[in-house]
Order: sequence, then structure tokens, then C-alpha cells
Amino acid sequence: MSFQFSRQHLAATALVESGFSRWTRRMTRGETAVLTFHGLRRDGVEPGILDCSLHETVSTFRGICAHLARHYEVVTLERAVGEVGQCQGTDRPRVALTFDDGYQSNLRLALPVLREFGLPATVFVSTAFVGRELLWFQKLDLALERAPGERLTVAIGDAFYDWPLNDESQRRRALTELLAALKKLTWVELNRQVEKILGLLAVDISTHWPEALRPLTEGELRELAASDLVEIGGHTHRHPVLGRCEDEMVRDEILGGAERLNQMIGRQARWFAYPNGGPGDFVGRKSAVWLEEAGFEGAFSMINGRVRPGVSRWSLPRYGAPRSAREAEATVSGAFEVVKEWRQHFKRRAAL
Ligand SMILES: [Zn+2]
Repeated sequence: MSFQFSRQHLAATALVESGFSRWTRRMTRGETAVLTFHGLRRDGVEPGILDCSLHETVSTFRGICAHLARHYEVVTLERAVGEVGQCQGTDRPRVALTFDDGYQSNLRLALPVLREFGLPATVFVSTAFVGRELLWFQKLDLALERAPGERLTVAIGDAFYDWPLNDESQRRRALTELLAALKKLTWVELNRQVEKILGLLAVDISTHWPEALRPLTEGELRELAASDLVEIGGHTHRHPVLGRCEDEMVRDEILGGAERLNQMIGRQARWFAYPNGGPGDFVGRKSAVWLEEAGFEGAFSMINGRVRPGVSRWSLPRYGAPRSAREAEATVSGAFEVVKEWRQHFKRRAAL
């Protein structure tokens, strides 16, 4: 358990057990908290990858769904955006569930849980990933996990890195720092570096992909799209950070990705999620023309916040995946956010 996780978990426990989250929950009616998951992994099975933060276990996901089904109204993105500011029907606050990238586990592991509780969800798919190729950060995860060497020494931009790879924790640290360094590069330079690093690590990652990393096949994507609970959305073709791309490429990734996706699922995808999606990772205003041309009705970022009156359709907020039912409650009830706002308020006052 990492320090960050335990601190986050302790804070969540305090906010839930004290009743604070029940109080903030009441203030969030008419708004929707959108949660972002990626893949899921089976309980008790070695994941075969270094970074499990994007792949919660099925039992954790099930616990979160059970909690949300009991205390919240889990809605589609259409309702999250279309009914913003309205309180209709049940007076329970609203939550929406999303999954990014297009993992096979969305169909095999997540859908049965969604069915069990009758919860809708949206899966945002990068079309290059479907049935074919690992995304760049997945390639590096697998290569660093499997590399026979004991060090990775590489220059990225002006910086020089020398990571020891003697055990799993060293490899995980190398991966975290490597991804952070690469995400600052332009897309063209990033790809050049990834190829160079894969060459240096000298390991075959073309086969035996661990279950957690496997993409949906085209057939499975169609199967998922045919489910009455799941809607498929766009997530570009190759998953570049759009804020690091030339305009022409942003256009190609949005329009080309949408065209491929619509063809695969046999219908028009309505929602889009920016890869990475943090501040500076996309330019909502600039992308809006192409997103609209591609037929999307709204685009989601990874900037924390709730879908509430006044938010832009082209930079709708989302939260990351909670790691327990308590973290889910502290997030979607707004408790984490209220505490953060109070902290900032008192910091500002102290600075006066
Ligand atoms: Zn993604």
C-alpha cells in the first residue's frame, strides 16, 4: 500500500464515517460526478504488468458499484449533460461511469458487474488499440516488466536518466518517471523515444500480452456496443496527448478516430474523452470545431469537478477511479472537494 493510497484512504474513511459525506451529498443534486476507470483485473491473479493503478480488481469495482447503486442514481452521459441543473424523479445525487481506452476486461469483467446492478456506463475507445496494437505507455510497461537488463540509461530532451532495474519496485519507479518525462514531448518526438527505449530494453513484447492489457477485438467491441447498458465513445485513434500535437494531427486523430469507430460499431458515437485529459493536455476551444464535425456532442477531460450548470460541453470534468467504495463515496459526494476548497480558503487567509 503506497503512502498516497493510505493517506487518501484514511481521509476518505474519516469523511464517510463522520457523516460528512452524507451532508455534502445533499448539496450536489442536479450535478453529476463522472468517474473514470480503465481496465479491471481478476482477484488473486498476477497482473503481469508494473502499473496496476489503471486496473482495479473486480471485487473493488463490485464494491464501488454496490455502494453507488444503493446511494446514488447512476445515469448515462446523455442524462448527466442533458439534465444538468435539474432534479427529477429520485432525489438521489447522480453519478456516471466511464472506462477509457477499450480494454477486453470492460466486456469480460466489468459488464457482468454492471448487469448485476443494472448500471449504465460509457467506454471511450482508441481505435488503434482495438484488436491490434498496444498503446505506447502499455508497450513501455510490458518492456520494463520483461527486460532482461539491470539498468536503463537514456537521454530524453536535455535530461539524462539512469534507472536501476534490479527488482519490481525499481522497475515501477523507472516506468513512472519515464512516462512523466515522455508526456512532456511532442507526439513525434515521443514516438521516436519510445522506439529507441524499446530497442534499448531489447525484449519481445509482440506476444503473450497479460490479460489486464488486452484490447477488445472488433467483434468484442461490437458485442459491448450491443449491450443495452453500454455506450461507446471516441478516444482518438492512437491516443496522443492532443495538446502536444500539430493542428493537422489533432484533426486527423479526432476525425479519423471517429470515422473508424463509427464504422466498427455501426452507429454515430456521441461522446469523446481527451487522452490524458489534464490541464494543458488538450485545447477544448480549438478541438471543438473538429469534435463537432465528427458528430460528438461533448468531450470529457480528466480535470476534477462535477457536471454542473455553466460547464463547457467541450471540457466536461471527470474524476479518476476510486480505489475503494469509501473513496468513491468521498469523491462523488463532493466531500473531498469541499475539504480541498476549505483548505485553499484557509491557506489564502493565512497568507493575507
Ligand atoms: Zn486513455
